Amino acid sequence: MATIFSKIIAKEIPAAIVYQDDQVTAFKDISPLAPVHILIVPNIEIASVNDVEVEHEKMLGHLFSVAKLVAKEQGIAESGYRLIVNNGGDAGQEVFHLHVHLLGGRKLGPVLARKD
Ligand code: AMP
Repeated sequence: MATIFSKIIAKEIPAAIVYQDDQVTAFKDISPLAPVHILIVPNIEIASVNDVEVEHEKMLGHLFSVAKLVAKEQGIAESGYRLIVNNGGDAGQEVFHLHVHLLGGRKLGPVLARKD
């Protein structure tokens, strides 16, 4: 069954797409955690980092070039931003279609809250 992100990529369900090419799509997160919160997604379904194969390496490198481009277009290239990839249950991955969160537009605080 197609993931919800595949349906967004195919434009079967609506999303605010800010960039798309033949390899990756970037769209606004429906529940943003920062003034800029964009998901950058491979057009092919890779469930998680655990499923990355050698043949994905070029496309995933390209995905980072797109992250750089979108950060610039969103006006946060100089102020700073964070890229996050959640993998599996402990990381809280909800959608099993590999994606990079691009977050910025405010001070983002520490990478991870301390447990103590
Ligand atoms: P993760 O926890 O890393 O799997 O993140 C999944 C993200 O997808 C969450 O930040 C959700 O808010 C976001 N999300 C889920 N459904 C949609 C949707 N239809 N359009 C845009 N973002 C979505």
